[in-house]
Amino acid sequence: KEELNIIQGALELRTKTVEDVLTPLSDCYMLSSDAVLDFCTMSDVMQSGFTRIPVYENDRSNIVDILFVKDLAFVDPDDCTPLKTITQFYKHPMHCVFSDTKLDVMLEEFKRGNCTSPCKSHLAVVQRVNSEGEGDPFYEVMGIVTLEDVIEEIIKSE
Ligand code: ATP
Ligand code: ATP
Repeated sequence: KEELNIIQGALELRTKTVEDVLTPLSDCYMLSSDAVLDFCTMSDVMQSGFTRIPVYENDRSNIVDILFVKDLAFVDPDDCTPLKTITQFYKHPMHCVFSDTKLDVMLEEFKRGNCTSPCKSHLAVVQRVNSEGEGDPFYEVMGIVTLEDVIEEIIKSE
């Protein structure tokens, strides 16, 4: 039954982690921080259909900002505004979580908004500590997770 599936899904929030539901970095629609908001870029963003777009610098694993599609409301494509102008104006706080965060904890964080950021966003950048290899351990970005990914885990029917 539908209800049982939902209860099952809710119970699994305690055992499943963000890593189980994230959208991998390779599948993320992102913009380079040196992008220019010309007609081409802006229509590409609109066509992507996403409302939150990570912005990276140099390397896709180096996410430095989040662009909200609504930030583009006053941007005229003819002005060819540098993306940086917009991200520096809005400065949306970026929320990072570790990949082993349990989904029930993640859900609470999304509901509350992160304690360090008053503006709540339902998207977080997922990272893990990579201690493989010889060098010092480093933070590695694995992808993004949104509230939708957690909800999906609850209501998915098997
Ligand atoms: P909203 O529903 O608020 O309009 P959205 O459709 O942009 O936002 P979500 O509904 O939060 O995004 O997420 C839907 C799915 O898309 C989730 O699996 C999420 O991980 C993924 N997703 C969100 N943003 C991106 C993005 N920029 N690139 C790739 N996948 C994304
Ligand atoms: P997003 O989070 O994707 O930026 P949003 O903030 O516009 O979208 P939701 O997060 O979907 O909206 O909804 C937040 C709350 O605001 C919900 O309770 C929703 O019913 C309410 N809401 C959304 N749009 C409107 C509106 N135009 N007028 C009044 N209430 C709204």
